[in-house]
Amino acid sequence: MTSTILCGICHYEDTIKDARQWCTNCEEGLCEDCEKIHRSTKNTRTHKIISIIDYQQKKDVLVSQVCEQHGKSYDLYCPTHDNAICIACVDQHKSCSEVIQLIEAVVNIKESTAFTDLEDTINGALQNSKKNIIDIKSSSEAFDKQEENIKIYIQGMREILNKHLDDMEQNLISDFSTKSGFCKTAYANTIKQLISTDDK
Ligand SMILES: [Zn+2]
Ligand SMILES: [Zn+2]
Ligand SMILES: [Zn+2]
Ligand SMILES: [Zn+2]
Repeated sequence: MTSTILCGICHYEDTIKDARQWCTNCEEGLCEDCEKIHRSTKNTRTHKIISIIDYQQKKDVLVSQVCEQHGKSYDLYCPTHDNAICIACVDQHKSCSEVIQLIEAVVNIKESTAFTDLEDTINGALQNSKKNIIDIKSSSEAFDKQEENIKIYIQGMREILNKHLDDMEQNLISDFSTKSGFCKTAYANTIKQLISTDDK
C-alpha cells in the first residue's frame, strides 16, 4: 500500500494535484502540466524524470532496506564506496567526493550499463573526429579565402601604383613640353635681337 504523491510545484502554489512523474534531480513529484514545463524549461530540461509508479516501486524496495549499523533506511548512496548508506552513515563518508540520493543512483545505474557507456564513448569519439574534419575543412577554406584576399589587395595596390606612374608620366610630359615651348620662344627672341643689333 503506497500513499499518493502530490505534484510538488502545484503544492507549493497551494494546489493539490496528483503527481504523474517524479524528477530525481529535484526529488519532487510532477503533475502532467508541470512535467511539460519541467521538460521544456532550460534549467530543468536535462533532469531525469521517471514515472511515479516506477519511482514508488523503487522507493518501496529501497525503504525496506535498513542500515544494520544504525537501523535507519538507506536513503543515500556513496559512489566512492559504491554503497547504499543511511543518513547516520554520512559522517563516515565525509572525505568521499559526493553522496547522492539513493533513488537517483538506482535510476541512473539502471540506465548506465556498460553497453551505453561504450556507446557514449564511441559516439563521443565519432563526434570528435567529425568535428576535427569540419575544423580542418573550415581552416583550409579560411586559408584559401585569405590567399584570395591578399591577391585582391596586391592587385589593388598594383592598380594604384600604375595610375600614379601614369599621372607622373603625363605631368612630366606636359611640364616638359610647356618648358621647352618657353625655351624655344626665348631662344627665337634672342636670335631675333642678335640679328637686329647686327643690322644696326
Ligand atoms: Zn503540478
Ligand atoms: Zn527537476
Ligand atoms: Zn547507517
Ligand atoms: Zn564513501
